[in-house]
Amino acid sequence: MPDCLFCKIANGEIPTNFLYEDDLVVAFPDINPLTPTHVLVVPKKHYENITDNVPAETLAAIAHAVKVVAEQTGIDKTGFRCITNTGDDGGQSVHHLHVHVLGGRKLDPTAG
Ligand code: 5GP
Repeated sequence: MPDCLFCKIANGEIPTNFLYEDDLVVAFPDINPLTPTHVLVVPKKHYENITDNVPAETLAAIAHAVKVVAEQTGIDKTGFRCITNTGDDGGQSVHHLHVHVLGGRKLDPTAG
């Protein structure tokens, strides 16, 4: 998708330090972290959001990347939250599927 920010990050057009990369996904720190650990897991191929017929293989790769990132950052021990904002009411600002991995402090269970 030509003008998509996360396509450009995922394909290396915008240089970014990846915490994790495989054939299907990348993970990198959010530019505006909401929590001490705030990582975005992003499929390399463009999908608008989680409802966009994402192949099972890509969903599995996203789940694997979440696990690896959590282990790398230590939040697997303390707990963390995954969010994928979807559409306008969901607060999605970048329209390329991504999962926020948030942790490093106690999160409000009632936020939202
Ligand atoms: P959304 O609001 O779509 O769920 O999340 C988009 C996220 O992308 C936001 O948390 C925002 O801070 C992050 N973001 C926006 N532009 C950039 C960028 O250029 N680099 C990185 N690493 N994150 C970005």
